[in-house]
Amino acid sequence: MSDCLFCAIVAGDIPADIVYRDDEALAFRDIDPKAPVHVLVIPAAHHATAADLSIADPALGGRLLALAGRVAADEGVAESGYRIVTNTGEGAGQSVHHVHFHVLGGRDLTWPPG
Ligand code: AMP
Repeated sequence: MSDCLFCAIVAGDIPADIVYRDDEALAFRDIDPKAPVHVLVIPAAHHATAADLSIADPALGGRLLALAGRVAADEGVAESGYRIVTNTGEGAGQSVHHVHFHVLGGRDLTWPPG
């Protein structure tokens, strides 16, 4: 999709610190990390939200969650714990309208914060 930042990263038009890539998915480090591990997992195809993705291609949604788990393991936070976050809509803080799963770990993420 034109004017989509993450489509441009998928296309290689904008550089990113990519930790995993295949034909249908990409994982790259967040440019403004909120935790020691902060990786974004996205589909190569453009879907605006997790709900849109799950309607259009539910199996891909499942594989992306599996990839989030693999990234967490590769980053060394599978045992200590990690959070998968998907913001949906501006009011929830979604600033890039290409669905992405934040994989956050490497610090205390218990909720609510103590
Ligand atoms: P959200 O606010 O949930 O839509 O998440 C978008 C995320 O994309 C934010 O955490 C940003 O820091 C991150 N981000 C924005 N631009 C880039 C970029 N060029 N490379 C990597 N991450 C980015």
